[in-house]
Amino acid sequence: MQQPKYKRVLLKIGGEALLGERQYGISPQATQEVASEIKIVVGLGVQVALVVGGGNIFRGLSAAQQGIDRATADYMGMLATVINALALQDALEKLGVDTRVQTALEMKEVAEPFIRRRAVRHMDKGRVVILAAGTGSPYFTTDSGAALRALELNCEVLMKATKVDGIYDKDPMKYKGAKRYSTLTYLNAIKEEGIAVMDTAAISLCMDNHIPILVFNLFTKGNLKRAVLGEDIGTVVK
Ligand code: UDP
Repeated sequence: MQQPKYKRVLLKIGGEALLGERQYGISPQATQEVASEIKIVVGLGVQVALVVGGGNIFRGLSAAQQGIDRATADYMGMLATVINALALQDALEKLGVDTRVQTALEMKEVAEPFIRRRAVRHMDKGRVVILAAGTGSPYFTTDSGAALRALELNCEVLMKATKVDGIYDKDPMKYKGAKRYSTLTYLNAIKEEGIAVMDTAAISLCMDNHIPILVFNLFTKGNLKRAVLGEDIGTVVK
């Protein structure tokens, strides 16, 4: 069997990953595809904590720009991530992967509250823990939630799934000769304009606590597996 590089990873999936061809909401097929990629790495024995965003349904900041109170809009955004978490739970369980959803805002009829030691126990038992509602606080993003949970749960790496193959020196869509960075420092990831990998708060939390961030393309089939096997894909921010 191929030997994974990591025992426990935190995978951050933006809400966009569930859109498929849609402009809004959840495509069951796209969700299923994401779930199949996760099933493969669970099969390798890797423990997975999953943080899911809500951008396919609701983003607090854009709603606030249209007049909704910012904190209220952010709570709405956090609820959107719970909807996505349930969709992913359903997709994973249909593939036979055991899961638990834990939420940073309590809603015990729907999911467990986030309890760190319990989340660890679930992962030890081979369950994927899907962490919803970000940090539970407005003015944050699910990227910050992902950084926080990755640290709390002693994950070895924060894997940030994106639509691009990593971080480039220039926009690879516009420039032919654009070069992918294999590694990048946290400070450069924060500093360089046009490299919007993650928000500054999330990157600096990772920097202060020395957890690497792997930015990679989840939409290339088999990439998540390659990532956990330690192949040279994406960009490692460290
Ligand atoms: N959000 C929040 N606090 C958090 C995490 C998320 O207020 O700790 C809200 C925020 O309004 C955000 C929305 O939830 O816009 C959806 O999360 P995000 O934009 O990070 O989703 P993604 O871009 O990853 O799909």
